[in-house]
Amino acid sequence: MTDSPYSLLFEPVDLGPKVARNRFYAAPHCSGFGVDFPREQAALRGTKAEGGWAVVNTEYCSVSPECDSSPKHSARLWDDDDVRRLSLMCDAVHAFDSLAGVELWYGALYPNRESRVVGKGPSASRLFGSYVTEQSCSTMTKTEIRSVQTAFVAATQRAVSAGFDIINVYGNPVVSVTQQFLSPVFNRRTDEYGGSIENRARFWLECLELVREAAGDTCSITARLLLEPDSDGIGLNEETAAFITFADHLVDFWDLASGIDEAESGSSRFFKENWQLPELSAARKLTHKPIVGVGRFTDPSTMVKLVQSGVVEMIGAARPSIADPFLPAKIAEGRTGEIRECIGCNICLARFRQGVRIHCTQNPTIGEEFRRGWHPERVQPIKETAASDVLIVGAGPAGLECARILAERGVKRVHLVDQEAIVGGQLAWVGRLPGLSEWNRVVDYRTNQLKKLRNVEIRLQERLTSEDILEYGADAVVVATGSRWSKDGLSSVTQAPISGFASFQGSVLTPELVMQSSEVLTGMTAVVYDCDGYFVGPGVAEVLRRRGCEVVFVTPHPTAAPFTSYTHEVVGYNRRMNELGVRSIYNASIVEAHPGGFSVESVFGAETQMVDADVIALVTQRLPNDETFHELASDEDALAAAEIRGLYRIGDCVAPRLIADAIFDGHRLAREIDSTNPATPRMFIREQVGSAPYPDATPFAELDA
Ligand code: SF4
Repeated sequence: MTDSPYSLLFEPVDLGPKVARNRFYAAPHCSGFGVDFPREQAALRGTKAEGGWAVVNTEYCSVSPECDSSPKHSARLWDDDDVRRLSLMCDAVHAFDSLAGVELWYGALYPNRESRVVGKGPSASRLFGSYVTEQSCSTMTKTEIRSVQTAFVAATQRAVSAGFDIINVYGNPVVSVTQQFLSPVFNRRTDEYGGSIENRARFWLECLELVREAAGDTCSITARLLLEPDSDGIGLNEETAAFITFADHLVDFWDLASGIDEAESGSSRFFKENWQLPELSAARKLTHKPIVGVGRFTDPSTMVKLVQSGVVEMIGAARPSIADPFLPAKIAEGRTGEIRECIGCNICLARFRQGVRIHCTQNPTIGEEFRRGWHPERVQPIKETAASDVLIVGAGPAGLECARILAERGVKRVHLVDQEAIVGGQLAWVGRLPGLSEWNRVVDYRTNQLKKLRNVEIRLQERLTSEDILEYGADAVVVATGSRWSKDGLSSVTQAPISGFASFQGSVLTPELVMQSSEVLTGMTAVVYDCDGYFVGPGVAEVLRRRGCEVVFVTPHPTAAPFTSYTHEVVGYNRRMNELGVRSIYNASIVEAHPGGFSVESVFGAETQMVDADVIALVTQRLPNDETFHELASDEDALAAAEIRGLYRIGDCVAPRLIADAIFDGHRLAREIDSTNPATPRMFIREQVGSAPYPDATPFAELDA
């Protein structure tokens, strides 16, 4: 390692009672496992330790039954059963000489749907902007303050028993009581816990003192502080700066991140790698303790520069460690070209917010380590009885991933054929939408890997008909022909094309056609009709606006890109539409086409208006390109005569979905192509609550107090 330009990243870091074996810190992030799926939790975190992360953290970990996030699954340290469950994770992390960290959390403004207890906060508050009326909390009495602090102490003692090495007292200005006390927005108290910064910091400082005392010298203590900039955007605001000064003697190191909501897990659409540098640099001036900083780091050169600059001692990463749990190992082994870089799409975050287990666009194995036994870097050799020539028709995300895994498994010959001049399928143009260039990493990673595999042949600009496929000579065929956007306005709103669509005399574009053209549209008006609700509609609107036309954005949704409320981008997308001067008509659908425009009706049925248009861009619905598959599937005799033993379909040609799901589909088939029935996914291990804790309980009998 000493000759490597990245050797600095592999120096140990002194974290007080514990020493991290290198500078890679897998930051706390949600998994959807919590304590409810302890083996999946352990396998996920243990895999990161195996991949070289010196510190591996849990997600937010509730300290008390007064704080739950049901139906989402958080970690918890409420009792000894939770200790047993999380000890599996600690063991898995320790097996690779890494340190296990736990992020202790009391939410206050969480709705506590499992316990049905009202959360307690610094002052009675309701979460701003929330339409969930129960996201409110009561004002803590001083007795309740002691009670919550005692819960942190008890959770610390349990964390020590579970085997954790690092106790992180989590702050967040919105969802964590510690930083809510610090915040003048949520803290309106007039006693010694409110008013001055010193008073507002008191609750968190006392927690840190108590946690430190409870842990003794067995664990390193840190606080995750979400930094907020000052009004000039140069330094930190008064309370976050002051807190670093006040608490510096109580922590062994700082776990710092930007605290503005959309910037905390900034997407690549709006935030580029290392965007938190200004806040981290400001924090550096206030402490000599080691700092962990995040910034979606995937480039080892950026990491080295950041450490050399003295701003941070450890490279924190949540998403890069999800996309590639082996990122540190690849840097250490000089395999930087093999890093599967996070694309900053935030689907991992979206899936958690939707209440399901972790997903990732780049890494289909994340969360599948235990239940499917998938390792991110290892695959089973293909069985000798399996197909030797596999033809994959379509080199989009699903086809590329399927080819990669089949080839890595040792299939004799993998033939990847596409009708286009370049690989990538829809990503060939999606990556050119404004701000989405990092999404090209999906294709870049897979093509780089495929180049190293001698058993893969990629053939482009070849359009294979069903007959061609039958005559190809493959003994297994995988159809991965993707999807296309509807050209007649078929949408989920009406389940039908736009009425009278043929009468429209202007230009009809789909997103693909918009991106194929560079035509200047000055003086024209384009309607973007977006029923999709994700990134494509606003992206197309921006492209058209930049070509000089007026844009009218019509959507049945109440906002642009509503799905991106899950990905932390909805503010960014809507702000951008306003900056561009796009005229938006929300809660509306196109009900009829006319030669010069469209009738647009409120989805509430109240009013109809006429919108003139020279161009319409239809972002309404995608349709599977499944004709070839069905032609082949309908003629079993022809398949038998061609000695094709297996015919499969993957990705969007099954049903148009997220890129993450298309990649998963291709990966899954390649892992299971030599199973008994490859077309049907193998059953995965279902991790269930295995015990019956109250075998003698009588129904409806209330438990003793
Ligand atoms: Fe990165 Fe997207 Fe994977 Fe999340 S889902 S880790 S943002 S690639």
